Amino acid sequence: MRCVVILAILLSCVTVMNSNAAHNGRKQLSPQECAAYVYAYPGNIPILLTAPHGGREFIQGMQGRRYGVTATDLNTLPMIKIVRDIMRTEYDCVPYVVGAYFSRKYIDANRSARSAYEDENAREIYNAYHRQIALYIQEMKNKFPDNHPLLVDIHGQSAYPDTIFRGTRNTKTLQDLLKVAGEDAVIGAESILGVLHKYGYRVFPSLTSITEQEHRSYDGGFTVYTYGSHCKQGINAVQLEFGSQLRTKDQLRCTARDFAYALDVFNRRWQMRTTTPKKKLTLGVTLLGSLSWILYHVCFEPRSSGMRSG
Ligand SMILES: [Zn+2]
Repeated sequence: MRCVVILAILLSCVTVMNSNAAHNGRKQLSPQECAAYVYAYPGNIPILLTAPHGGREFIQGMQGRRYGVTATDLNTLPMIKIVRDIMRTEYDCVPYVVGAYFSRKYIDANRSARSAYEDENAREIYNAYHRQIALYIQEMKNKFPDNHPLLVDIHGQSAYPDTIFRGTRNTKTLQDLLKVAGEDAVIGAESILGVLHKYGYRVFPSLTSITEQEHRSYDGGFTVYTYGSHCKQGINAVQLEFGSQLRTKDQLRCTARDFAYALDVFNRRWQMRTTTPKKKLTLGVTLLGSLSWILYHVCFEPRSSGMRSG
């Protein structure tokens, strides 16, 4: 009997060792292979949509997460794809997009690296996702130096099926927008949630006061806290949690269409300001025009007058 027990212990040790060896000895993914797990396209307006929990892809040979939430935010990845398509065809503009194809069972991209994954082989895929966000933020800053780019992190919740929750750590992550545009850009009729509310969506917090507290479970996670405008190199960032009823197969396209419209209204109202270079150009053209007019009158006007009078 004792021999059987010892043999069983030895066998289980060998199994664990083999399992570890398989993980540790697994071929490192190339940068291209990691990038293939990230959905990413550049845009032409200063808005970036991200979806860290909408992916469903299995990662071959990778150990799943044993702790934390592993459920998919159903249809949030398709949502940003549809929104992008609608904005391109109907509003002639496209937001930047970054989404996770990989399942949250392996990596939670809306957490710090320390708690996002348990298998070290996941590190490069996690980094590829966040590298892409950082890259697009820098690109938006370079391309739109006089605007105030906005990151919208898309999630889903089921506790309040018909509600959209705003998460900004109680306005901290978009403090720059509040400073330059005021609270109307966040809770006014032409804010993203203001437009959605007008279309009949239930939103939380309500739009009556900017100081109304956000729901503690949906007040903004790692993404908005990492890239928000309270950080030195950050931009304005808001997390939106769409209720399950708004993301069903039948409802998804309608929600995406209304959301695309809300983003377009926001972009036209709060992002399409006259840029500094245009102002300089206008000033330059005005000065040049005035100078030409003076030169014309000084040099030619007297002779013309003379000819006419003669
Ligand atoms: Zn989520």
